[in-house]
Amino acid sequence: TIGMIGIDANGKMAGSCTTSGLAFKMHGRVGDSPIIGAGLYVDDEVGAATATGLGESIIRICGSFLIVELMRQGRTPQEACEEAVRRLVAKNSKDIKDIQAGFLAINKDGESGAFAVHPGFNFARHNQQEKVLVDSKSWFK
Ligand code: ASP
Repeated sequence: TIGMIGIDANGKMAGSCTTSGLAFKMHGRVGDSPIIGAGLYVDDEVGAATATGLGESIIRICGSFLIVELMRQGRTPQEACEEAVRRLVAKNSKDIKDIQAGFLAINKDGESGAFAVHPGFNFARHNQQEKVLVDSKSWFK
């Protein structure tokens, strides 16, 4: 999956999300990417979030919607991503060693955050000050 979320100079937010799906998936399977609220959610008044990883685990917690709602309640993008991963880990504890999922978020002020279940989730951050590739923090080290 490639998820992109952004904010322009006027505070307008946008997001997009593509997916190649999962290898060996069931015919007809729909992952999280095409489901608004799971793989992507944008609310101009609050912020935006996007997800990658095992779609079923992301759908189960309405991951991107959850993150935007947590930011609406005052969490930073980083705190919101970490809470989403905490819930995902709790709901999938039996299989969590084999499940990777990661989230990205930005808020109305242009602050960003990211968090993943396992290491290896990279993302790019681009603004007027920087253009960097970042290795996300993760639940498991
Ligand atoms: N999230 C995608 C899916 O479950 C997989 C991916 O991250 O590429 O379909």
